[in-house]
Amino acid sequence: MKKLVVASENKGKLKEIKEILKDKYEVVSMGEMGYNQEIVEDGETFFENALIKAKTVATALNMDALADDSGLCVEALDGAPGVYSARYAGGHGDDKANRDLLLKNLEGKECRKAKFVSSIVLVKADGSVVEGLGETHGTIGFKEEGTNGFGYDCIFISDDLGKSFGLASDEEKNKVSHRYRGLIDLLSRL
Ligand code: IMP
Repeated sequence: MKKLVVASENKGKLKEIKEILKDKYEVVSMGEMGYNQEIVEDGETFFENALIKAKTVATALNMDALADDSGLCVEALDGAPGVYSARYAGGHGDDKANRDLLLKNLEGKECRKAKFVSSIVLVKADGSVVEGLGETHGTIGFKEEGTNGFGYDCIFISDDLGKSFGLASDEEKNKVSHRYRGLIDLLSRL
């Protein structure tokens, strides 16, 4: 089976990508391949950031590299936190602080519609680029529900599932998630 390195060390994302691609690729993390440097994501869009990550790792390791850049876009907040989802409250990856700030910023807002977006980019060892885009829609709840998943999962109530991603099993989330849809879109272009 062909090896594919994922330009991420986010355990939640890696688990999902491994599961979704398990029949097609042997998915390994960049850390498992000995690449541990921090990649500066200074793009202005999900696509730009995914391209930066995939290109950096594909070039460093001289192999096919896949990156996902994803986030939550909330309608009443003009699409925030968007590309800043991982560091919405300041510190990178402080999921609890990010969720608390989002719930606070939505206080008093009538519309709680939101979507997760995932831009997936594959940079092949020969430098060619293939991209995929996925979205999943829902609303932001008023409190945390469930402990599965990561990031904003426990406050995102999926339209498809009728419950929060935090209450969904991995299998349920992986059938409707933005990353799943982005990966399917990318695979259809290979
Ligand atoms: P990235 O690693 O720069 O793509 O940041 C993605 C951030 O968006 C994560 O740290 C989470 O806060 C959020 N995020 C992306 N996908 C998901 C998901 O499937 N569930 C919950 N939060 C997510």
